[in-house]
Amino acid sequence: MRGTTTALLALAGFVAGSAMIAVGGERRVGDVRRVVVVDNAPAVQRVAAEELATYCGRIAGTRIAIVPLSEYRPTDKGLSFFVGDEVARRLFNMELAPWQQEEWLLRTVPGGLLIAGDDATSGDPWSARVRAGSMLAAYTLLDDYLGVRWFWPGPFGEHVPHDPDAIVPELNRREVPKFMIRWVMMAYTGYHTPEFREDCVRWMRRTRQGWTRSALFGHSWWYAFNLKNDDTFKEHPEWFALVNGKRQPPQMCTTHPEVINRMVEYVLNGKYDIMSISPSDGGGFCECNEETKSETHKRLGIPSCTSLDVPGVLAYDNKSPSLSDRIFTYANEVARRVREKNPNKGSTSSLTPITISRRYASRNWSRTSTYLSSINRLRTATRRTTASGRRTWWAGSNSARR
Ligand SMILES: [Zn+2]
Repeated sequence: MRGTTTALLALAGFVAGSAMIAVGGERRVGDVRRVVVVDNAPAVQRVAAEELATYCGRIAGTRIAIVPLSEYRPTDKGLSFFVGDEVARRLFNMELAPWQQEEWLLRTVPGGLLIAGDDATSGDPWSARVRAGSMLAAYTLLDDYLGVRWFWPGPFGEHVPHDPDAIVPELNRREVPKFMIRWVMMAYTGYHTPEFREDCVRWMRRTRQGWTRSALFGHSWWYAFNLKNDDTFKEHPEWFALVNGKRQPPQMCTTHPEVINRMVEYVLNGKYDIMSISPSDGGGFCECNEETKSETHKRLGIPSCTSLDVPGVLAYDNKSPSLSDRIFTYANEVARRVREKNPNKGSTSSLTPITISRRYASRNWSRTSTYLSSINRLRTATRRTTASGRRTWWAGSNSARR
């Protein structure tokens, strides 16, 4: 049946040719009469419905009602926005769960448009730490298709076009945010008035920011190796950076397998969903080479720290070698092993101590992977890798975790 419908729609589109004629899926905002939401809906879905009614009402210059599902009749005139997966199940027999974290959906359905997602059943819907897939879907609709803009917090930063003829095209999008943590820090909130603080909270939601998984950033080795006393250093000097021929804290030898083991345990046992594995602050990184690397390296045939640095690629001072490849190798290896043991755990590394540009990172990714694969052969057969970065974010996305 579905195949026949699709074929008919395709045929209708073909007959319509290139003219902008609806093939059954386009929705004119001026024709929307109501937002339907399940009775006793979770707060996230109620707010998504209110936001849709408010902004679409302003676009169309009409009043859009919020109607509980128990009062909705499919024969009611005009189009409807249907909010939430429970409405989808009861009205359209669609089972949309299970959702991935913050996954959302926009789908054209008979009589209107379905707006749904991974919604928390409790918590403040305006908090970026609460899962609110339906709200992400609503704001995607308002921003991507109807031209509503939230340039900065408060009504003055808001742009809502008046256009009752605005058209929402036929939609079938089901997506996970590309970035797991989406966050703009609004400077020191201590300087904000209560009103501005409230505006900021709403602005963050409307601009689709979110931070639903707990994460710890910053330098990590101080805690992971308990550097506030000398015990770890006395017990395992070869775990530490070799500098001018001597082992010393606070940097670690990032190619040492026991250092990586310790970091894997640190992440797995950490109380946050995403744990930092960042190096210590400052310089003093390991200078071990093929001759001076530890006995453990030699016994297992593991490359030294300096052998991972790319010859001729220099750091910001234009003198010392860039450490990007060795740190990526370390971060990837920790992340890969963490994932094997607990796919829900994440690790993050702050890349600020290392000279890095996005271009350089992507150019060298394959090289990093080559080193990884040699380590993989020592450790395990799995080759899937993931890592996350604080400043560049390129590896912190949900999609990279799949
Ligand atoms: Zn080393």
